[in-house]
Amino acid sequence: MSGEPTPSVTYPAYADGGLKRLLIDGHLVDSRSGATFECLNPATGETLAWICEGDAEDIDLAVRAARHAFDDGPWSKMKPYDRQIILSRFADLVDARHDEIACLDTLDMGMPLVRTMGNRRRAVGMLRFYAGLTTALLGDTIDNSIPGEYLTYSLKEPVGVVGAIIPWNNPHIAFIWKVGAALAAGCTVVLKPAEEASLSALLLGEMLLEAGLPAGVLNVVAGRGEVAGAALAAHADVDKIAFTGSTATGQEILRSSAGNLKRVTLELGGKSPNIVFADADLERAAEGAAMAAFGNSGQVCSAGTRLFVERPIFDEFVDRVAKVAEGLKVGNGLDRSTQLGPLVSSAQLERVTGYFEVARGEGAALRTGGVRLTDGEHSKGYFVAPTIFTEVEDEMRIASEEVFGPVVSAFSFDEGEDLVRRANATTFGLGGGVWTRDVSKAHRYARAIRAGTVWVNCYNLMDPAVPFGGYKMSGYGREGGVHQLDEFLNVKAVWLRTD
Ligand code: ADP
Repeated sequence: MSGEPTPSVTYPAYADGGLKRLLIDGHLVDSRSGATFECLNPATGETLAWICEGDAEDIDLAVRAARHAFDDGPWSKMKPYDRQIILSRFADLVDARHDEIACLDTLDMGMPLVRTMGNRRRAVGMLRFYAGLTTALLGDTIDNSIPGEYLTYSLKEPVGVVGAIIPWNNPHIAFIWKVGAALAAGCTVVLKPAEEASLSALLLGEMLLEAGLPAGVLNVVAGRGEVAGAALAAHADVDKIAFTGSTATGQEILRSSAGNLKRVTLELGGKSPNIVFADADLERAAEGAAMAAFGNSGQVCSAGTRLFVERPIFDEFVDRVAKVAEGLKVGNGLDRSTQLGPLVSSAQLERVTGYFEVARGEGAALRTGGVRLTDGEHSKGYFVAPTIFTEVEDEMRIASEEVFGPVVSAFSFDEGEDLVRRANATTFGLGGGVWTRDVSKAHRYARAIRAGTVWVNCYNLMDPAVPFGGYKMSGYGREGGVHQLDEFLNVKAVWLRTD
C-alpha cells in the first residue's frame, strides 16, 4: 500500500511523534521559552514529531558552549589524529544507520527513498574524506627577502566558532557537508537546521556525541530562520557563518554578519543553463535534461531550469523530455517505485503553483504538467506534476527567477548566435550543462559558462573531492574538495629571527 514503508526499510524510531530536544553543550534540552513546533510529513500531512523551538536565548547558550569548547575545551587542543578518530567513528555510525537517516529525511521533506538512500556513498564518503583531511592540513615555509636571518612560515588555524545554517532540500547531506568540514578544521559549531526538516540534524547531533565528540563542540538549535538563524548570524562571538539557502536570506545574513565582520560563505540559488546541441546523444540528453530539472522535485539549487535546445532538434527533443516527465512516478517517497516526491511544504506548493500562473500570464506555452496533483495518494500531500514551458522569452520571470520546483523553461537557439550571452544572462552562476559529442565545443562552453560547476554529458553529479559553489549571486566559497577546509581556517604568518 502506498504510504507504508517497504518491508526492507525500518521505519525510523526517531519519527515517533514525540518531542525532540535541542543539543546544547552535550545535553538534550528544552528551549528556554518552552516553545515547540510541529514537524509534518509533506506527503501525508501526518505529524512526525514535535521539536523544541530555539530563539536568541538558546542560540546564545549554544554559542557560549561552542566558544568555551573552542577557547578552553579539549577540541582545539586535540591532536589531528584524535579528531580523525572521532570523525571516522561518526562515519561508521552513519554507514551503519544510513537507511534510518535516509528514511527520516524522506518522511521529513519528501525526497524519495531511492534518492535519500542513494546518498549513503556520498554521506559516508564525505565524512571519510574530511577525516582524512584532519591530518593533512599544511602551512608553508616561505622565502623572504628581508636583509638578515629570518625564517618565515605560515600556520593554518581553525577560525573558531562556526554558525552553520542549512536548508531542507537534502538535510543529512547538508549537515555532513558543513559539520564534517568545520570539525575537520578544528572549529566548533552551532548548527541551525531548516524548520521544514530538522529531524536528521538532531539525530546526527546525538550520533556525534556517541562517536565521542566532546560536549559543546557541536550544538544543534532548531528554530525559525528569522529568529534563531538571524540571532546566530548576528552573534558577536561567532567567527564564521557557513550558509546554504536562498539568495535573499544570504543577503540578509551578510548584513547581520557586519557587526563583528565574521567570515561568511554562501551557497545560494541558481537558474542554471542546460545546453543541448543537435549532435548530442539525444536519448541520454533527454533523460539527463529531465532529471536535471525535475530531480528532487526541482528543489535543487543547481537544477538545470533553463533548457537551451538547438533549433533543428527543438521539437523532437522537447517531446522526448516531455515523455520522460510524463513517465515519472510522482508519489509518497517511501514507495520504492516513486521517482518524484512532494514539495516540502504548503508554502513551497503555493510558490510553485504561483509560478504556473506567472508563466501563463507572461504568455509561455505549457507543454506538460502545470498542475497540482490531488488524486488518490496525492490527495493529502503537496504534489505537482513535472512541468515544461515553451515559447519562453529570456526576460520573462519564469526564465529568470528561481522557482525551486519541477519546472523547466525550454528555449531554442540557432547555430552561430550568441548563445553564451543568453546562457550567462542571469544574476546566478551556480551550475550549467552542455550536451554534445564534439569535444572542442564541450571545452569551449565549459569555459564560457560563468558558473561554479559545468557538467558535460551529465548533470548534478557531486563528489566529496570535487569543489562546489557559486559565481555571481549564487554566492561564494567552495564546499567539497580540499578547498573547503580553507573556508574554516585562518592563515597566520610567523617571523622568526634566527641569527
Ligand atoms: P528557503 O527559501 O529555501 O527555505 P531560506 O534561505 O529561507 O531558504 O532558508 C535556508 C535556511 O536559512 C533555513 O535554515 C532558514 O531557517 C534559515 N533562515 C531563514 N531566514 C533567515 C535569516 N533571516 N537569518 C538567518 N537564517 C535564516
